[in-house]
Amino acid sequence: MHGFRNCFQACTRFQFDVARERCSQIITWLENAMTERLPRILAIDDVPANLLTLGAALGDCFELQIATSGAIGIAQALQSTPDLILLDVMMPEMDGYQALSTLRAEPTTRDIPVIFVTAQNSPADEMRALEAGAADFISKPINPAVLRARIQTHLTLKRQADQLRAMVFVDGLTGVANRRQLDESLLNEWRACRRAQSPLTLMMIDIDHFKQFNDTYGHLAGDACLKAVAAAMNAGIGRSHDLLARFGGEEFVCLFPATDLIGARAKAEQLRLAVQALAIPHADSSVAPVVTVSIGSATTIPMAEYNVDPLLNCADDQLYQAKRSGRNRVCSTELQNG
Ligand SMILES: [Mg+2]
Repeated sequence: MHGFRNCFQACTRFQFDVARERCSQIITWLENAMTERLPRILAIDDVPANLLTLGAALGDCFELQIATSGAIGIAQALQSTPDLILLDVMMPEMDGYQALSTLRAEPTTRDIPVIFVTAQNSPADEMRALEAGAADFISKPINPAVLRARIQTHLTLKRQADQLRAMVFVDGLTGVANRRQLDESLLNEWRACRRAQSPLTLMMIDIDHFKQFNDTYGHLAGDACLKAVAAAMNAGIGRSHDLLARFGGEEFVCLFPATDLIGARAKAEQLRLAVQALAIPHADSSVAPVVTVSIGSATTIPMAEYNVDPLLNCADDQLYQAKRSGRNRVCSTELQNG
């Protein structure tokens, strides 16, 4: 029965892979079609009549949300993260400048472009608005066509900026996080685990005999191998706040917040098996006939101010142990007083 299943799997593997690829393309297309939505614009103005005018000017090309005070607008922006905000300057209690500085201080809203819409239209007012961080400045009475055109321009710029921001944190070859993202996540998770006094696990992962792999199969095959290994491990890390990053060359780092030594061992073993299960042939490896990884794992409860070097060094030592004792294995330990 077992032999029959293996044979069946081998025969259908190719057709299955093609079908799976097609299905995933169709699913992606459907998801995009379903999530494609109108740009969401939040208009903040203390005079309801002005909001009506803006609504009429925007027509049905946008999804309009409205707020009649700075405070309500900020709460709304935090909740719905609009694509762009139209902000009145003269408002009681909190004026446009105050609202803008609050929006700029919040990580959720700091990158949303804000266009000031105001009756004040002297060059000095315009300068003040732009210096405060507004993306643009439109005078009342508004011209609907100009308003729509300016909005479109800033939406395009915002989309491009978002794409660039995303690319800055991604490793170009493997698509997993890069060093910059790792540094940022390490700092955040260190602080969060220190506050909660919960264990933080860091793993260093190295592909066994990768240089020989490149020598035998060529660098293009080497790149394909790195991509496949990264994808397999990324699929295996599970929780959304766990992070896999390419550390450089054939080295990866995994970050597991709220994960103790026992959890870390299980996770590392899971990652090791996921790579082995790819069954990428490696004729020149002394470890196995397929590509494998060695993993060094270090777990600590952060006690002091951010200094991740001891944890990184500890994981690196464990990786060295794993390699010295035969590779394709996990070595792990706990670091006291992290
Ligand atoms: Mg006003």
